[in-house]
Order: sequence, then structure tokens, then C-alpha cells
Amino acid sequence: MSYVAPIKEMQFVLDELAGMREIRLLPGNEDATEETVAAVLEENAKLMSEVVAPLNRLGDLEPSVWRNGEVTTTPGFKEAFKAFTSAGWQGIQHPAQYGGQGLPKLVAAPCMEMLQSANLSFALCPLLTDGAIEALLTAGSDDLRSRFVPKLIDGTWTGTMNLTEPQAGSDLAQVKSRAVPQADGTYRISGQKIFITFGEHDLAENIIHLVLARTPEAPAGVKGISLFLVPKFLVSDDGSCGARNDVFCASIEHKLGIKASPTAVLIYGDGKFPVGGQPGAVGYLVGEENRGLEYMFIMMNAARFQVGMQGIAIAERAYQKAAAFAKDRVQSRAVEGSPGPVAIIHHPDVRRLLMFMRANTEAARAIAYVAAGLFDVAHGADAEQRKHAQAAYEYLVPIVKGWSTEMSIDVTSAGIQVHGGMGFIEETGAAQFYRDARILTIYEGTTAIQANDLVGRKTARDGGAVAKRFIAQMRGTAAALADASSEDLRAIRSALGEAVDAYAAVVDYVVKTFNTDIRSVFAGSVPYLKLAGITHGGWQLARAALAASRGLQSADADGTFLRTKVATARFFADHMLTSVPGLARSVVSGASGVLAVPAEAF
Ligand SMILES: Cc1cc2nc3c(=O)[nH]c(=O)nc-3n(C[C@H](O)[C@H](O)[C@H](O)COP(=O)(O)OP(=O)(O)OC[C@H]3O[C@@H](n4cnc5c(N)ncnc54)[C@H](O)[C@@H]3O)c2cc1C
Repeated sequence: MSYVAPIKEMQFVLDELAGMREIRLLPGNEDATEETVAAVLEENAKLMSEVVAPLNRLGDLEPSVWRNGEVTTTPGFKEAFKAFTSAGWQGIQHPAQYGGQGLPKLVAAPCMEMLQSANLSFALCPLLTDGAIEALLTAGSDDLRSRFVPKLIDGTWTGTMNLTEPQAGSDLAQVKSRAVPQADGTYRISGQKIFITFGEHDLAENIIHLVLARTPEAPAGVKGISLFLVPKFLVSDDGSCGARNDVFCASIEHKLGIKASPTAVLIYGDGKFPVGGQPGAVGYLVGEENRGLEYMFIMMNAARFQVGMQGIAIAERAYQKAAAFAKDRVQSRAVEGSPGPVAIIHHPDVRRLLMFMRANTEAARAIAYVAAGLFDVAHGADAEQRKHAQAAYEYLVPIVKGWSTEMSIDVTSAGIQVHGGMGFIEETGAAQFYRDARILTIYEGTTAIQANDLVGRKTARDGGAVAKRFIAQMRGTAAALADASSEDLRAIRSALGEAVDAYAAVVDYVVKTFNTDIRSVFAGSVPYLKLAGITHGGWQLARAALAASRGLQSADADGTFLRTKVATARFFADHMLTSVPGLARSVVSGASGVLAVPAEAF
């Protein structure tokens, strides 16, 4: 079975949880009418399920190939990329001034999800191009924007993000690539970058690398890093591509998953393609010298959000496959007795696995779309609303990235379990989802790096103010659930209430302990991120259950869909929210076990 976009579910989350109705009223969002959003989702779903999804398995079997510095992508990728870009999907959330559609991030989010569900490897090229566009729009000069952004949006060129070097992974302070200023205002870049996604390929006529490097006089550490735009082919003032720049793809990696996405080693400035007889790749400074990391963070925040969406997307795909398999596979009699063996979906534990997959995916989707809505408010509402929405969005980004991707590993693993032995066999495709998901907790900052961000910049720095605002809203939802008459809603209220109390205690602990015992706080950073993810997910599903219960009063309600929403929230409350007090204990009193054993004893 291929991919079927869950449009009804997406539309429900947009309207009932993420504030689509309010967001379309913000200035600049006039085009995001109900009809347009519905048409955008339908059209996107069509392309993804009919063109992009069928290439997913082929990409695993016939990955990108490197030969003499050139990379040939999986057969069919080129045509699919053309179909994707010529329909305008790369520009969905980018300004109309540069050829984009200018739609809110909240409308782009489900489109990103569908693209990622369809084919994670293929989707990485547009994902990184989005990041490059965003960085140029934020920090690039008028000249760089007008020369490069329109062609990145229309798919003539693609973008990459070049941070990592052999000695500089999580720690970008160690970046060594050099950028030497030239008399004409350009720079000559040299150095080696590794793990560069779509750093070389045959999908577009040019590749626009955004590269972190240091100028000769730059201070040490992160304060001395600048951002440069380095095209694979030099671009003249009229926008046409000219001679080859001095950047070369030395190899691509052989990987556990996302095999069709070429992960390149790029060598800058070793004289293989000298420009004007000189070695050194020609680069253009983006923004100001020594502010590169700041700009890269813009790109990384956009990319981190999208990698979180990748987690949700692959979890959805794995769920769809597992649910279809469970209805088909006949094995064992029912525990209550049956004339013969039954489809495995009848067995309570298979139901548990499927509900685990479904509820976690829906919870993560709801958090991500709510975050996208906050981003739109932060860019369109009045000043006070903007400030709060921006802070709330930034708090949620490490949760969207960190929790959704960790969740995707658990969910794709559960998908294999539903398939039994057939899940372990490559032919079914369930194993590919698990292998593909495994990178998501690593690139764009590992889970630990997300958790460090959540603890330090997002919680301790403001004394827990943003977290506490969320907690107050969660208590409001719990109060609304207490008034409900249904047993499901009361059970959800009870689990949510306990989880929120535990979350509040953890936020207090992080704020109080950060300045007195920082190692202990960081020993609990990943459990804190998990706890926050589960509590936010449970909160969103509780809101969904309330909205569904209200919807059930209406005469034309889709009863099956809405009752399933309530049941899914109930499952999450009983099986996920109940783990939050345990995680809180790990954060508050788990440090001694983590740190007691000295390094030599390992
Ligand atoms: C398939 C793939 C595609 C990639 N695409 C790109 C790309 O397009 N552009 C790009 O620039 N890079 C890319 N990367 C690189 C990726 O972002 C890095 O691999 C990642 O940031 C981790 O760095 P590292 O591999 O050096 O691991 P390390 O930084 O060495 O980390 C090793 C372990 O130490 C932990 N650790 C490190 N520092 C800390 C800390 N401060 N606190 C707690 N734990 C810590 C990590 O969590 C991890 O568990 C890609 C990588 C892969 C595998």
C-alpha cells in the first residue's frame, strides 16, 4: 500500500487546535481562505501520493550514486522534482515578491508533512532549500536576495546547509573552514565539509551552498564564524550560470537509511576548479562578518521544525502500513474464542500497538501545527501578541524536533512489531521506515542538543515564564474537562492534571537548580524534553477531545471520526500521560545515578 494523506485529520487540527480561522484574518493572509486551504491540501496530496511516494522504495533499492565528483540520483527523482517545483510547492510559504505563494506557515506545515511522508530522502532537498531561502531573506543583501532567492523558489537551483566538519559536529565553535576577503568584495573559501545533504546531485542546474567559515582575523569560538553563499557554478549579474566554482564532491556516504539522499563530503578551494587561475571557492558574505552562527540559527530553527515534521510524517506512513497489514494478516484465534484464526487487528495487543502509533503521531502533529500557528501570529499580529507568540514558538521548536523524532523511532519500531517476522524482512517496507527514521534524532542537532536548548535558552533564561504560561493554559483545559459529563473526558482530565503538576514541578526545579547545580539539571535534560513533549501532546489531544465532543452535538457530525478522536485522546492519557510523573522523578532526582560513576569506570 502506498501513502494516503490524512487530510480530514489535518484539517481538524488546523481548524480546531492551531487557530486557522484566526490566522487567516491576520494581515497578509487574505489568500488563505477556507476554499484555498482545502484546494492546496487536496492538490498537494495528489502529487505526493501519485508521484513522490511511489519512488520511496526505489530510492532505498537504487540510492544516489557518486562517480568522479558527480552524483546521479534515483531514477524518477529528477522528474518528480520538476513536477514538485513547477507546481510552485517550493514557494508555498515564501513571499510572493520572490515568486512564492506567500501562504502562512500553518498551511505549509501539512504540505511539508505530506512531502516527508511520501519520501523522506527526496524531501530533504526542498527542506534544505527552504532553510537557505529563509536565511537569505533574513540576512542577505538586496543583491543576494534578488539574484538567488527567485531561482531557489522556482526550483532552477537548490540550497544546502554546510556546517559540519570532521572536528566540528555538535560543537560549531570548532569550525575551521577559511574565508579570505578579496579586493572585489568577495571571499575565497577553503576547507572540508562533511555530511552535506544534497551537497551534490543532478536535480537542478546549480547548487547554492550556505557555508560557515572564519575570516583570517576572526575571534576564536562561535563569535568568529561568518556565513557565506558559495554557488557550485558562478552566477553573473544577470542571473545566468557561468564557470565552475572551486568546490568538489569527494564522495557520498553509505548509510543506514535515507539512502537516496546524497550525503556529501565537499572540498572547498583546493584548486580542482580554479577561478581566474586561483584556488579558492568564490563566496559572498551573507549579512555581517562574525554573525554567521546567528544567521545559521534562523536556518536551523526552520530546519529543526521541518525535521520534527519528518518524524511525524514517517510515523504516519508507518502507521498506515501497519494498520493495513493488521487487517489482512490472519493469525491465532481470538482470546474470547472464535471459530478459526482471526485477522491480527482483532487481538488486544495489536490494537494497543496501533493505538500507540496513532495517538503519538496525532499528538506530535498537533504540537507542530500549533507551533506553526504561533509562528504566523508572531509575524502578523499586534506587537504584544507577536512577542508572546514568538517566545512560545521558540519554546516549542526543540520539542517538535526532539520529541517528534524520538517518537518516530518508537512508532516505526512498533510498526515492525505489528508485522511480526515480515516486519524484519526488507520486502514489506516496514523496516525502511525504521531505518529512515533513525537519522532524525541525530541531524539538525541531536536530541541532547535540543534538550540543552530547552533547558538553558528556553526555560532557565526567562525563569520558566513561557513554560508557565503554557502550564496555565493546560490547567484551563483540565478545568474545562472537569465540567464534562463523559467518563472518557474525566479520565483524560485526571491524567492531564497529574502530568501538568509534574511538568510544573520540573520547570520549578530547572529554574531553581540551573545556577547552583548545572550538571544535575543537564543530566535530566532529555527526560525533561520527553516529559514536555508528552504533556504538550496530551494537552493538545485533550483539546481535540473537547472539540470532538462539542462537534458530536451537531446533526451533520461525522460520528466515527469524532468518537475516534476522543478514544485516541483517552489512550494517550492512560498510556502516555501517566508516564510523566515518572519522568519528572528522573529529572528531579535522577542525576546522582547518571553522574556517580567516574569516566574511568566505564
Ligand atoms: C545523513 C546525515 C545528513 C546530514 N546533513 C547535514 C547537512 O546537510 N549539513 C550539515 O552541516 N550537517 C549535516 N549532518 C551532520 C549532523 O548535523 C551531525 O552529525 C550532528 O550535528 C551531530 O554531530 P556529530 O555527528 O559530530 O556528533 P557529535 O557532536 O560528536 O555527538 C556525538 C554524541 O555526543 C553527544 N553530545 C555532543 N555534544 C553534546 C553536548 N553538549 N551535550 C550533550 N551531549 C552532547 C551527542 O548528542 C551525540 O550523542 C548530517 C549528518 C548525517 C548523518
